[in-house]
Amino acid sequence: MSEIILVVEDEISLQETLVYNLKKQGYEVESVGDGNAAIEAARRLHPDLLILDIMLPGMDGFEVCRVLRREMNTPILMLTARDDEIDRVVGLEVGADDYLTKPFSMRELLARVKALLRRVRLIRQEVNTVSTPSTETKPQVLTFGNLSIDLTRHELLVDGQLVALKPKEYELLVFLAEHRGQVLSREFILERVWGWDYFGDSRTVDVHMRWLREKIEPCPDKPSRIITVRGAGYRFEG
Ligand code: CA
Repeated sequence: MSEIILVVEDEISLQETLVYNLKKQGYEVESVGDGNAAIEAARRLHPDLLILDIMLPGMDGFEVCRVLRREMNTPILMLTARDDEIDRVVGLEVGADDYLTKPFSMRELLARVKALLRRVRLIRQEVNTVSTPSTETKPQVLTFGNLSIDLTRHELLVDGQLVALKPKEYELLVFLAEHRGQVLSREFILERVWGWDYFGDSRTVDVHMRWLREKIEPCPDKPSRIITVRGAGYRFEG
């Protein structure tokens, strides 16, 4: 079965060139020209790879990347046109797996595509050898001691009891759980959980951490799960 690649590019001539060259390599290719269509197509196709331009009408490539990263682990190759975009792709960990700066040669693009797909195949093989083939590659319940987060039902259980969370508290908790053991700055958390368009300040993060602690810490005044790292941010211990 050939691999499916979704091309998101609003410059029609480049989009057509990409589609033509990828199809010639034997890939199944679908293309769209804006961010909303990209999300819709990715959800429908579950592509093996996404080639994503940053400057798009409507929702830009960063936002598309941020949304899709929460839902699937499809590798994303970003197409950048400016230096400040590269800074964001590399420095702020938008979740892209690789990037190419315009203009690029088709040969270079095809080499990157091949390398990314090979990486995915290797990871899938590893996953299949450690779990039964029928299970999802991503666990649907994250468990930390007496705490379990059900990713399918969007629920938090503490000691088996359902704990009500506001949507942002839930998103924040899942984000922390996915980055267990890492120190996360307030700015990074804001960017990833609240989004690029959010103009709040970092106290928003502190407030939500306090609410979360009240719900998941045995002793919220002496937190053992969500640790404050002075001058740096927060670390989730699990
Ligand atoms: Ca563009």
